[in-house]
Amino acid sequence: MFSKILIANRGEIAVRIIRACRELNIRTVAVYSEADKDSLHVELADEAVCIGPGPAQESYLNIPQIISAAEITDSDAIHPGYGFLAENAHFAEICESCGIKFIGPKPENIKLMGDKLEARKLAKKCGVPLVPGSLEKINEKEKALEIAHQIGYPVMLKAVAGGGGRGMRVCHTDMRLVSSFLTCQAEAESSFGDKSLYIEKFIENPRHIEVQIAADKYGNVISLYERECSIQRRHQKLIEEAPSPIIDTKLRKKLIEWATKLAKACKYENVGTLEFIMDKEQNLYFIEMNTRIQVEHPVTEQITDVDLVKLQILIAAGEKLSLKQEDIPLRGHAIEFRINCEDPEKNFVPTPGLIEFLNLPGGKGVRVDTAIYQGYRVPPFYDSLLAKLICYGKDRKEALKIAKRALSEFMIHPLKTTISLHQRIVSDPDFCKGNYDTSFLSKFYREEVYSFE
Ligand code: ADP
Ligand code: ADP
Ligand code: MG
Repeated sequence: MFSKILIANRGEIAVRIIRACRELNIRTVAVYSEADKDSLHVELADEAVCIGPGPAQESYLNIPQIISAAEITDSDAIHPGYGFLAENAHFAEICESCGIKFIGPKPENIKLMGDKLEARKLAKKCGVPLVPGSLEKINEKEKALEIAHQIGYPVMLKAVAGGGGRGMRVCHTDMRLVSSFLTCQAEAESSFGDKSLYIEKFIENPRHIEVQIAADKYGNVISLYERECSIQRRHQKLIEEAPSPIIDTKLRKKLIEWATKLAKACKYENVGTLEFIMDKEQNLYFIEMNTRIQVEHPVTEQITDVDLVKLQILIAAGEKLSLKQEDIPLRGHAIEFRINCEDPEKNFVPTPGLIEFLNLPGGKGVRVDTAIYQGYRVPPFYDSLLAKLICYGKDRKEALKIAKRALSEFMIHPLKTTISLHQRIVSDPDFCKGNYDTSFLSKFYREEVYSFE
């Protein structure tokens, strides 16, 4: 087992990883930017190394600085968390060549599944259904038009290297496709350093269903069931739950079978997530794989009683999966709410600043994963996620009751956050019935606060 792990991340996920290490008796090293010197992850880790100024490019994405920090602290592994370097195959390779274990999949896995077209090809080979569309990169708008005519409008232009909900455009007509092509290419180039695009059929108002898997280096693969993440804004998740209200035992079996097949086909190692979308007729289509721990992993932990971050560390240390598929429980229901410092009434403009008063909810069925505290000043440089509220009940109805209660206790004064929006969502009759899809929030906004946009 590792004796010391460096955490190449910040915020709630850095704290989450420190917790797992403590329970495994592993020492921890935090890295931090100058803007994060008063952060909780720095306070909680056994050691901390400053790796540069506030902007992520100069600190949390600065590979030479992070590797030096690992070397001077004699760390034997690096946990990348999510975002930043978590899906950077080059970083994983450098760790390997420096004799530092990267806690995540092998560089080949990251490279293969990080290329959304390669992932689509593999899905096709494995007989996993995928959204109709191209299997090759599209470099000219003429080719884009040809494929759009084959599959029929509406279509979606997507970046081959895309992530974080960026680099996507829905097109309903030839004219829109032509005009979007160059802007989408430019956005892909600036966000991901790769302008390659591909086209998918745009599935109208789908539900987002994803499957959590874990695989060890001996070829054993298990699935920790599905999560539903259809409450999204601009293709980014806001609320996630497990299990999905729409997936029955039969569909779940199918999902597990597909996810396991794909993981085995690429000799995957560590935890990962296969994302699907589901249309009105309950057809499921593979969209992509995330080769890392996911923001919403706690809902899976609540219903399966598996600590996914500890599992990542054990797998990276070469341990064999001790759980068999048939032994993994699925009990109760968990819902996660992303509490972002964004003003939902002002088009989600970021609202960083000083937290003068903080009250975290508690009580039965409530888990809060966060790195904020009273007196903390939220820096303007990073992701706006302040906290994750995870509510667990014996069934969805109970989880929702707990959520309403917990949201009413949650106070982060004077910052504007997404708490107010979540309160409205948990009172919505359709949401309460589990009757929703990825268009839920846009409808919601059109009805009442659309005028703020
Ligand atoms: P999840 O699938 O775990 O919900 P998100 O899409 O919310 O993940 O992304 C988690 C974090 O990782 C966000 O900060 C997001 O901007 C970032 N992220 C995800 N994919 C990429 C990527 N390919 N490139 C850069 N950042 C990414
Ligand atoms: P990212 O890598 O940024 O997470 P994904 O491919 O996972 O991108 O898509 C993010 C979200 O965008 C999905 O959850 C879904 O809401 C929407 N989406 C993606 N592809 C399609 C599609 N073909 N049709 C309809 N919606 C889609
Ligand atoms: Mg995705």
